[in-house]
Amino acid sequence: MQGKIIKGIAGFYYVDVAESGVYECKAKGIFRKEKKKPLVGDNVEIEVLDEKEKTGNLIQILPRKNELIRPAAANVDQALVIFAVRQPDPNYQLLDRFLITMEQQEIPSIICFNKKDLAEQEELDQMYQIYISCGYQVLLTSAEQEEGISQIRKILEGKTTVVAGPSGVGKSSLTNLLQEEVSMETGEISKKLKRGRHTTRHAQLLTVGEHTYLMDTPGFSSLFVERMEKEELRFHYPEFAEYEGKCRFQGCVHVHEPECAVKQAVEEGKIHRQRYENYVSFYEELKEQEKRR
Ligand code: GDP
Ligand code: ZN
Repeated sequence: MQGKIIKGIAGFYYVDVAESGVYECKAKGIFRKEKKKPLVGDNVEIEVLDEKEKTGNLIQILPRKNELIRPAAANVDQALVIFAVRQPDPNYQLLDRFLITMEQQEIPSIICFNKKDLAEQEELDQMYQIYISCGYQVLLTSAEQEEGISQIRKILEGKTTVVAGPSGVGKSSLTNLLQEEVSMETGEISKKLKRGRHTTRHAQLLTVGEHTYLMDTPGFSSLFVERMEKEELRFHYPEFAEYEGKCRFQGCVHVHEPECAVKQAVEEGKIHRQRYENYVSFYEELKEQEKRR
């Protein structure tokens, strides 16, 4: 039987099998020999030990599409990063940091600005424009007024999505809405997993539909761009791509160099100034890190 690991704790792996529910499985010796550690998100083959008790053994990990370091997970299709338009105001530095981390891991990001009921249309348009112009998909939602929920659901369908965002932006409110409308399994293990959701620091997947999973990312606010050469940073800004190679100097990092096509595009309003300014400050941050190495 095949399923997906939705949680791993103290040697037990919880495997979601579509239409059958969640099985509590142990990894057998073969994994220790292979030195391949099962990850949340892994698609696995299990053998059922007891159908009533919902227990089994992991017998094989199916090939991974990818493997994320932050958060530790396998087979992640995309990231949904949620900020509020107000209460709290969006922290664009943090948002850009998150986008860079995902670009670095080659995971596409979708940006969701929630609490759209708290801002004027003009302000919403501005937020929307910054990131649409970079090539990101942007959603404006209100959990309170249940707006934009079906849009989110469509984007999530059939995929495994990492969900991130600072606290207070409405992540739980949105997640609850998403879970409400799908028929949730009500097995004991599912209930237990749901209850434990906010008490655990372990990454885990939440089932919101058939083959549709959400993953919480604990520790989001401390996200830090790392393990990156400062010269690499510019490649994680999708809106810079069309100017790459058009600067006067080869290998231009678009910071202090003269006749820089990226800086020119900022002046002309083709690249958003705020994005560019955050780029420069991350660049300086990486430079400082390099000095300390
Ligand atoms: P989380 O910390 O990101 O999980 O945020 P919560 O879902 O707990 O929401 C934080 C607060 O914002 C709660 O008081 C929610 O009722 C409120 N909230 C969530 N979504 C919206 C929204 O779309 N509009 C408004 N006005 N408030 C919201
Ligand atoms: Zn340049």
